[in-house]
Parts: sequence; structure tokens; C-alpha cells
Amino acid sequence: MPTVREPSSEIDAHHSGVKRAGLIGHPIAHSRSPAMQQAAFGALGISARYELWDAPDAAALAGRVAALRQLDMLGANITIPWKEAVIPLLDDLDDSAYHIAGAVNTITRAETAHGVRLTGYNTDAPALDQTLDKQGAWSGAQRMLILGAGGAAQAALGIAFMRGVEPWLAARRAETAREAMAKLAARLPVPEHWRDHTLALDDLSTLTATLRDSQILINATPVGVGDAGASPLPLDLLAALPSGAAVLDLIYAPPETALIRAARVRGLRAEGGLPMLLYQGALAFTLWTGQPAPLDVMSHALAIE
Ligand code: NAP
Repeated sequence: MPTVREPSSEIDAHHSGVKRAGLIGHPIAHSRSPAMQQAAFGALGISARYELWDAPDAAALAGRVAALRQLDMLGANITIPWKEAVIPLLDDLDDSAYHIAGAVNTITRAETAHGVRLTGYNTDAPALDQTLDKQGAWSGAQRMLILGAGGAAQAALGIAFMRGVEPWLAARRAETAREAMAKLAARLPVPEHWRDHTLALDDLSTLTATLRDSQILINATPVGVGDAGASPLPLDLLAALPSGAAVLDLIYAPPETALIRAARVRGLRAEGGLPMLLYQGALAFTLWTGQPAPLDVMSHALAIE
């Protein structure tokens, strides 16, 4: 295993009994996790620090993961681009990561009779499930349309399978959507016909027809990040959604995207990405500490960012 040279402040933490958790990814400077997790540690009187552990390449990733075996470590979050690449570096995978999302966003560290074990979890998938549940989106839902075919879309696909809701996937290229469906079929026993549930985002007639039969619409593309005017689909197409449909945009900055604004104007139940960000962080906090997460404190820390 590659070793990691730690800055002296981190070594001080090691000797002072302060536990550490952190975010491994690249780029990570914009992350809201430190504010949210630090507030939670503070609220519960846990002597721990949440740090940013930049990993620009595979060697840095391996070094950061190896460092999690140290005594003072609670665990880590993993983000883009390492959610899948981290898997071979871990000892165990939880079902949330192995079957449901096909990726890891949280690592726990445990001392066992056989040494330290690092386990990979995915808290994005249950957080997505929880957000849709709070929206009342699952009730009566038969079809979900997911825009985008990356990691977040995989979590949505896995959750759709668990909920018995048929997913459709729209990506810039239909081929990308087909590959994403094949990835899902490789880890879960999905019905054969799901592999045809794919379309290209610019195929507006198929998109409109799919929207007509979808009770849930999820934006899992980054279109709209930092741009309250951008939308992953022409907003007039929202008129095709059934009147009781729920719209979830995974983007949390801005908190209200053009998609969410238009869905609300249409009278649909619409939610941005902040609740999911909160729930995934809360689940990770509980995995590291064994304590219920202080949701109010964490939510406040997210909102004031
Ligand atoms: P990812 O793995 O990079 O996937 C992004 C997907 O979006 C890809 O399918 C990509 O398509 C597509 N895409 C990129 N630019 C696009 C464009 N201009 N038009 C149409 N499609 C485009 O990213 P991810 O992890 O799935 O994350 C997706 C979004 O969800 C991000 O904004 C992320 O911040 C957000 N997210 C939020 C939470 C939360 O807690 N709220 C959790 C996870 C993710 P191609 O394959 O064609 O490139």
C-alpha cells in the first residue's frame, strides 16, 4: 500500500486523541460536507475533525484509503471521480454499495480480531429514497424518468428496482443510457425489457411520451449547477407530466433550479438536492459514530453555506 505523508497539523491531531473523518475526491474544495459534519460532531460533543483529502490521481486515492487504517480515523466520504475506483481498495462492501448503487460514497473503519477492516457503503441511494419518500413520491408511482446516466443515476436505478418502480433513462447519447442500464442489470436481477427503457435527451417526441407516463422525474445531470437559468430539458415539456407527479433535482446550488421553479409553477411536488445531501451526510455520520445524526444542526450548517 502506498503511504501518505501527512501535514504536521494532522499528526498533531493523531496525538491529541482527536478523531478524524474526511472527504476523498477531486476537486473537493467546494464541498459542503465539512460544515455539515463538523457541526454534527460539535453538537454531540464528539472530539473529531472533518477534513478535505484531495486525491487528484489513483496513487493519491490509494494513499488516502490506506491512511484510513490508522487508529485515529473514523472513516471517510468518497466523491467524484473515485466512487467506483475505490472498491478494490476496501475489505468489505455493504449491499447499498454492491447491489443498489454500484458505487461507494462512505467508508467505515472497524477494529476486528483480524485487524482493521474498511467497509464501503452508499448513503446516496437511501438518501434519495428518503427524499422521494418525504415528497410522497412513491405512493402510486409506476414509472420514474431519470435524466443523466452517471453515478447518481445508478443510485436512482437501484432504488427504483427496490421500490418496484420502472425506470427510464435519458442521456445525451442513447448509447450511454443503454450502457448504464446494462450496468444495473449486471448487479440486480432486473426484468429483461428494462434494457429498452433508454432514450436520447434530444429525442423530444419520445421524451414527451415518456414524461406522460412518469409519476417521478429526477434530474441526475449537472445541468443547472451554479446556473439558475439552465435546464436539462425544455421546460415546456413539464406540461406532459401527470398532475400528481413529483420532480426531484439532485442539484443543491442553487437550491431552486429552473427545473424546480417550473415544476412548482405547474403545481407539481418539486424538491431540490439539499434534503438528499443532508440525508446522505446524516447516514454517514451515524455509520461513523453509531449515534443518531443531529439533523437540525446539520441542515442549518448546510443552509448557511
Ligand atoms: P456523473 O457520474 O459525472 O454523471 C453525470 C451525468 O450527467 C452523465 O450521464 C453525463 O452524461 C450527464 N451530463 C453531463 N453534462 C450534461 C449536459 N450538459 N447535458 C446532459 N447531460 C449531461 O455525476 P453524478 O455523480 O451522477 O452527479 C450528477 C449530479 O447530481 C451532479 O450535479 C451532482 O452534484 C448531483 N448529486 C447530488 C447529490 C445530492 O446529495 N444532492 C448526490 C449525488 C449527486 P455523459 O455521459 O453524456 O457525459
